[in-house]
Amino acid sequence: MIEFGYSLQANRQIDMDLNNLRMLKYIRNNEPSIDWCMSCGTCASGCTAAANCDLSLRRMILMVRRGEEAEIHDLVFRCRFCGKCLNACPRGVNTRNVIYWMQQAVININAL
Ligand code: SF4
Ligand code: SF4
Repeated sequence: MIEFGYSLQANRQIDMDLNNLRMLKYIRNNEPSIDWCMSCGTCASGCTAAANCDLSLRRMILMVRRGEEAEIHDLVFRCRFCGKCLNACPRGVNTRNVIYWMQQAVININAL
């Protein structure tokens, strides 16, 4: 075998078309501004609750977009609805509404 100095890795590409998007569709129907998120992380950097836990709205939106529902089940209920992220978001995402509908999606997961 010829040694090139590197090796090929298993394909880790995420096929978005195969993701379970039921939670994203539910949230989008109730708060369309979730689609404006550009994952900048400004909301997470000043989050009140993040000082005591791993809450990150940026990460939760990514998880919802990937269909990784279980990732947000515990975190989403740690939000204090203080609104700091709402004022900070450069894209005008209605962050508190997004989190509220994330919570509703988790509560009603079997009905989505
Ligand atoms: S509303 Fe929730 S996510 Fe936003 S800064 Fe406050 S605690 Fe963090
Ligand atoms: S600040 Fe706004 S655009 Fe940036 S990650 Fe948070 S929700 Fe998305």
